Amino acid sequence: MSDSAPLTYRVSPSRPEAHLFAVELVVPAPEASLTLTLPAWIRGSYMIRDFARNIVSLAASQAAGDESQTLAVTKLDKQTWRLDGIDPQNGPVRVRTEVYAWELTVRAAHLDRTHGYFNGTSLFLRVAGREDRSCVVELLPPPDDELADWRVATSLRRDGAEPWGFGRYRADDYEDLIDHPVEMGRFELIEYDVEGRPHAMAISGRQQADRERLRTDLGAICTEHAALFGELPVDRYLFLTTVVGKGYGGLEHRFSSSLLCSRKDLPARRAGGGGEGAPADKDYRRFLGLCSHEYFHLWNVKRIRPRAFAEQGLEREVHTRLLWAFEGITSYYDDLALVRSGRVDAKGYLELLAETMTRVQRNPGRLRQSVVESSFDAWTKFYKQDENAPNAIVSYYAKGALVALALDLMLRRDTHGRCSLDDVMRVLWQRHGRTGIGVEERGIETIAAEVSGLDLRDFFARALDSTEELDLAQPLANVGIAMRQRPATGPSDVGGVADAFEAVAARPDIGVRLQPDMSEAQLAVVLDARPAQRAGLAPGDQIIAIDGIKADAAGFDQLLGQAPTGESIRVHAFRRDELMTFEVTPEPAPADVCELRLLDQDSGADEAMLERRRDWLASRAA
Ligand code: ZN
Repeated sequence: MSDSAPLTYRVSPSRPEAHLFAVELVVPAPEASLTLTLPAWIRGSYMIRDFARNIVSLAASQAAGDESQTLAVTKLDKQTWRLDGIDPQNGPVRVRTEVYAWELTVRAAHLDRTHGYFNGTSLFLRVAGREDRSCVVELLPPPDDELADWRVATSLRRDGAEPWGFGRYRADDYEDLIDHPVEMGRFELIEYDVEGRPHAMAISGRQQADRERLRTDLGAICTEHAALFGELPVDRYLFLTTVVGKGYGGLEHRFSSSLLCSRKDLPARRAGGGGEGAPADKDYRRFLGLCSHEYFHLWNVKRIRPRAFAEQGLEREVHTRLLWAFEGITSYYDDLALVRSGRVDAKGYLELLAETMTRVQRNPGRLRQSVVESSFDAWTKFYKQDENAPNAIVSYYAKGALVALALDLMLRRDTHGRCSLDDVMRVLWQRHGRTGIGVEERGIETIAAEVSGLDLRDFFARALDSTEELDLAQPLANVGIAMRQRPATGPSDVGGVADAFEAVAARPDIGVRLQPDMSEAQLAVVLDARPAQRAGLAPGDQIIAIDGIKADAAGFDQLLGQAPTGESIRVHAFRRDELMTFEVTPEPAPADVCELRLLDQDSGADEAMLERRRDWLASRAA
């Protein structure tokens, strides 16, 4: 065998009842010693996950004539093994692992008798020094006859396997190998083309979704993104969707993405109508936003990448200050593509925008952490949020999306419509996406300035490096959109779009958030420098009475709403098992909810503003 022979990875869902995949790695023409490693994290999800903890057994052997010899295995650290005593004159080395798979998320692996799902990062050992070697992947069917109708959905390139079948696939190298999640089971398939390239969504889990609706909407969204970049760099694409009662998540890959959604997020099959043309309800709109987000990543972060991601591996954290762009710009375009492709109308889009603004505005953490800091510390802060997160951090998704909005509208305004963020994205694609050259930490700022001819240093310094409030009112006014901030009408009020800005009275507020899904009024968050904190209440406290009246989660806001502002109320609460009393003085709820309003010529927008708005929201897919 030549020394460029491919590595072979053989995966069997061998013991679904025990949630164990059996994986065999065959290394041809080995040296005397081999080092094997499993990643500590998966690209796109910036947290150390130590996938190796799910390897329950690992054994290695080498063929010597007709015999098979067991090899010595030494574990070097939490995720690395060394094999010794290999005879290079003998045959290939075989490494057999059993991997426990019982985490139903987009970033791990899951196996039972209903289906199997895995990311390569959970199953495939990297052979040190052979990262560039091509790989054969053999997917074996479950050994049980009752599961004989299982099929396979993956974006791995077929190399003998029938479409949607078990059998032989291949990958170019290790990075490619771990970039194609695999679903095996009884999924439903929705197939469509974008620019003549086959696309599909495989849906696992019990559901009764309207297939035609999904096919139409996904096709329109994908087409919109391809038109923006001017090029669709994939010859196939697959959405792997897992439907559960309650769940939400997505993870991007170069030729596919994994999605987890709630059953109610999918469009219902309706007798006698609904279907195409009917407005998407909030849950379905959110699901389309998720699909749109992951598909946009096919360009932005999977091909246009931070230099640090292009150069460093998966053994430990890789830091970049650019997640505001790779997640924030993606979050901006995910919703924008919904209106540009006609999936929501302008009002529906403004509703999504207002909600994003409210999410940023209601957390004091935006005044503590810049988006650049949020990006850099994603590993230990955004991905490890605790009760103090709203006070301490800002989301590089939400604020990043607002920075993208502000930048886009400013470029349009200051170049008189000659240039927009769309142009910046196309140049990023040409220079970094097509070439694979990583983006420098300040590279996007440089390209934006170059493409527009504007001096953007002051804008970026404020928007990215400082915690100053973003000015969105002025750029929005320029496209005929009025915005205001008003007090929340209740804990579930996230703002939205209004035909007129009605006066809203500020309710008495003490600056707390309750633990969701609990009947007791337990404090999840105590906001910084607000009445509850000043009075000494703390996260975890269970409030049992307000002014001598029993308090629980359901009645908490009503009880608080009756309190006169400016006068103190007596709050009884348990901290651990100790009863405590607090004197709290409610204050008027802050104006932290954003509301937007579409202006027309009767309400103050001139024709130039309306023209700019049409241009901003118009489809790129002519
Ligand atoms: Zn994302």
